[in-house]
Amino acid sequence: MSQQLRKDLERIVGSEAVSTDDRDRIAYSRDMWPRNMILLRCGVHRPYSADIIVWPGSPAQVASIVRFCTQSGVKLIPYGGGSGVCGGAVPKEGGIILDLKRLDAVREIDPALQTVDVQAGVIGQNLESEMNRQGFTCGHFPTSMACSTVGGWIASRAAGQMCSLYGKIEDLVSKIRVVTMDGEITEVGRFPWKPRGPSWLQLFLGSEGILGIVVDARLRVFPLPERRAMRAARFSSFSSGMDCIREVTQMGARPSVMLLLDPIDTLLFRSLTARRAFLMPDFVGKAQETLREMGMNELLRHPWLIRQLMKRFGEEISAGVLLIAGFEGRGDLVEAELNILLDTVKKFRGTDLGEETGNLWLRHRLTRAFRQSPVFHSGGFTDTLEVSATWNRVPEIYTSVMNELSRHVLSSATLSHPYAHGCSMSFTLAGSASTDEQMLEKYDATWRTVMKTVIESGGTLSHHHGVGMLKSSALRDEMGNAFQVLSGLKAVFDADYLLNPGKMI
Ligand SMILES: Cc1cc2nc3c(=O)[nH]c(=O)nc-3n(C[C@H](O)[C@H](O)[C@H](O)COP(=O)(O)OP(=O)(O)OC[C@H]3O[C@@H](n4cnc5c(N)ncnc54)[C@H](O)[C@@H]3O)c2cc1C
Repeated sequence: MSQQLRKDLERIVGSEAVSTDDRDRIAYSRDMWPRNMILLRCGVHRPYSADIIVWPGSPAQVASIVRFCTQSGVKLIPYGGGSGVCGGAVPKEGGIILDLKRLDAVREIDPALQTVDVQAGVIGQNLESEMNRQGFTCGHFPTSMACSTVGGWIASRAAGQMCSLYGKIEDLVSKIRVVTMDGEITEVGRFPWKPRGPSWLQLFLGSEGILGIVVDARLRVFPLPERRAMRAARFSSFSSGMDCIREVTQMGARPSVMLLLDPIDTLLFRSLTARRAFLMPDFVGKAQETLREMGMNELLRHPWLIRQLMKRFGEEISAGVLLIAGFEGRGDLVEAELNILLDTVKKFRGTDLGEETGNLWLRHRLTRAFRQSPVFHSGGFTDTLEVSATWNRVPEIYTSVMNELSRHVLSSATLSHPYAHGCSMSFTLAGSASTDEQMLEKYDATWRTVMKTVIESGGTLSHHHGVGMLKSSALRDEMGNAFQVLSGLKAVFDADYLLNPGKMI
């Protein structure tokens, strides 16, 4: 990195907002992509190398940095919270990391329009707390909300846990301002509505920082719900639980949350919340102790065996599959929707478990996903594959993906984010191998083959985590001819391929 580059950037943002410190360069060489955690264990501290990190303090400074990069041919990587799990924000080809977290202003809510204008670097939890203080909610609750930003949500088409009711981020954004590689700040959006031509806003949603840099956005907000009701039910089979979710959703009820945990996820949910004796039969505790003694690492080397055991005894051990549902809003509507749920549970021969298990899920919903480090510490790895599909494809995708995963890793699945036409499915995978090198091979082979399986079974590669580096090669297969359109757009917006190179395309 030349001293000149540093000086040029300091002239734009000030010396305190530029860093070439090795500790910062190491920290910004990764996001939350689990592959980099395996590399870390192999002793690779800097899988990719950022030359320099800048923290602009205004959209105008972002525009100046972009103009500087275009003129001098320097690569630029937009960086929000760095919570992405697909390697979308890593400096694959070096260059400048543009950390947007100083753009964290939250403007006044417009109570008549129920919207709020925010800058792109604001952290999700801070935004939600501020909205709550004013009697509103954003309705957007990604599990990572404490460490992800509005810009990152928009760039990766994020989904909150309650998106069945409030919508995904693409339903919540009505306009954005974006800095394009010519250094211009352009407003794109449908508010006030301009019903002409294609939607430019949709073009930037999910573009993962390869077409432009989002600097601010107008988001919908909702009055805080008058009532929230959580419920749980048990089903003897995954398919009857799925039918129940589909029917509730298609009947017009708007659950805020509806999840169906397969036998392994049901078991894990019980063990994570084991403090509640009623959820934790003695034998499950004893089995867990034995597994711990065997060593988690050893266990993860035999995914096939575990899968066979779970196939045979899974629903027995976990006492069926668990459905968690939530409704919120006006008290009378919530009551009516709850009744629809209970009637439908009965119709599909489920057992109502009451409110407590649902409330337990609500309390743990933002922490469960952060309990991966024991797996990495024990020498294994874990990751999540989240796909979406129409209802008619869901059973086949569940079976074929689980079969494919069981050849490599231990896996479980949760069906979530239901809509009238389909839903998302999250597959948690955990694996191990004798050496770290073999582990990397196993990680790559697992992803390669399972992405193929998803596409062949009629699913989409992602419901909300995006593409990044992880899924870029498979994206070509999923998009078909439309991939050429995406490549063409990239060439128009960023002819010199300076913006977040090596991602998506
Ligand atoms: C434990 C855990 C749980 C998670 N749960 C969820 C979940 O429930 N729902 C969900 O949707 N995701 C989830 N994620 C994934 C991740 O949090 C989301 O993808 C999130 O939207 C990323 O936001 P970020 O600010 O961290 O973006 P980053 O990781 O910093 O960046 C993501 C991508 O967006 C680009 N980008 C960032 N900011 C901008 C900008 N202002 N303009 C243009 N491009 C930009 C980056 O270049 C990169 O390509 C989870 C991740 C973890 C680790």
